[in-house]
Amino acid sequence: MERVDYLIVGAGFAGSVLAERLHSIGKKVLVIEKRDHIGGNSFDYHDEAEVLVHKYGPHYFRTEYEEVKSYLSRFTEWIPHEYIIKASIKERLYSFPINRNTLNQFFGLSLKNEEEAKEFLDSKKEKIADPKNAEEQVLALAGKEIYEAFFKNYTIKQWGIHPTDLDASITARIPIRTNTDERYFGTSFQAMPKEGYHKIFENMLKDIPLKLNTDFNQVKEKIGYKKLIYTGPIDAFFNYRFGKLPYRSLHFIFKTLDKEYFQDYSQVNYPNEHDYTRIVEIKHATHQKCPKTTIVEEYPKDEGEPFYPIPRKQNKELYKQYQKVAEKLKNTYFIGRLAQYKYINMDQTVKSALDLFEKLKDED
Ligand code: FAD
Ligand code: UDP
Repeated sequence: MERVDYLIVGAGFAGSVLAERLHSIGKKVLVIEKRDHIGGNSFDYHDEAEVLVHKYGPHYFRTEYEEVKSYLSRFTEWIPHEYIIKASIKERLYSFPINRNTLNQFFGLSLKNEEEAKEFLDSKKEKIADPKNAEEQVLALAGKEIYEAFFKNYTIKQWGIHPTDLDASITARIPIRTNTDERYFGTSFQAMPKEGYHKIFENMLKDIPLKLNTDFNQVKEKIGYKKLIYTGPIDAFFNYRFGKLPYRSLHFIFKTLDKEYFQDYSQVNYPNEHDYTRIVEIKHATHQKCPKTTIVEEYPKDEGEPFYPIPRKQNKELYKQYQKVAEKLKNTYFIGRLAQYKYINMDQTVKSALDLFEKLKDED
């Protein structure tokens, strides 16, 4: 049997970055991917109407890591884009994340500056020194009305769990602002890959042996390798020996419309109305010009592809059991959103893959 230096399971960011880096120093690498495409959940493609769409939910690239930006810039040029997202409540669109404009819109005020906005929020927020869950996190920064209108039901829809049973880190992803910054993210670098994400992966993997439609479980006995990099769900790797780790999934409904645009923003969130959480029209972010548009409604669900690790105490404890046995395995590395059971973004995934490469590069 032919033996590779590294068998890499999964062609998302974690697997592809490591494949590219290890290949670049002369290691013999094989990537296997169970789907019929590379790119993991960041995959995008042109649909029948020629609209560039994101297959697994909107992927808005942003980073503060200079290292990640310059590494990925070897494989793509960028379209600078500051993402604007709105929240729709009773058919009115509000600035989101909450900022001074939202406070004025929602409470019918005319707060003129940051001090006034801060004073107003101070009068609303609850005295919670150390928020212990996703509900307390918002109450501590913005109070009950904002929490109930913008966060409570969205979070219940998204996770199928009450915010009091979810980690504070989930809602802490969303800032509460006193200025009028309308951008979804405050990150200094925000941009979309000029020719789409799939092009990044094509460029990264262009000289690397790759087998699509290949599940690790079906081929693991048949492929010889010295080291294994695994980016799939960690519980599946160990055949669920401690029980299943919960993941949240999504059902996407794509609709192509015979008009240039459907909405004015790349994303509109529906915290309280409809069964979907959001409608995405990615064309606004890709800056693509074409006569038709494709929108996507996202319906969260339990079963299906594992998209989101669910940050809460009991899940972390279960993950730790897997992590413990994983750490004992020699020459086997678990990395990425599913293998580390961590709610991380693309840039964080790339950063941890680059960090792992730094450790591996001097080994045999
Ligand atoms: P993945 O992209 O999930 O890749 C893992 C790959 O492994 C998959 O292709 C899978 O098919 C394959 N695999 C699994 N098991 C096996 C097996 N047994 N055999 C072979 N192959 C296997 N990040 C951002 O920065 N900005 C965003 O706006 C953003 N939006 C998101 C929206 C949604 C709906 C989701 C789900 C995620 C979003 N992310 C976003 C996060 C981003 O998708 C992840 O950070 C990134 O994809 C993680 O890369 P990864 O390689 O760890 O995992
Ligand atoms: N959230 C919310 N209302 C919104 C948007 C987000 O309550 O309109 C909460 C919700 O719990 C969500 C979390 O904030 O899961 C993180 O939102 P983000 O937009 O970062 O989620 P992602 O894009 O990763 O799905």
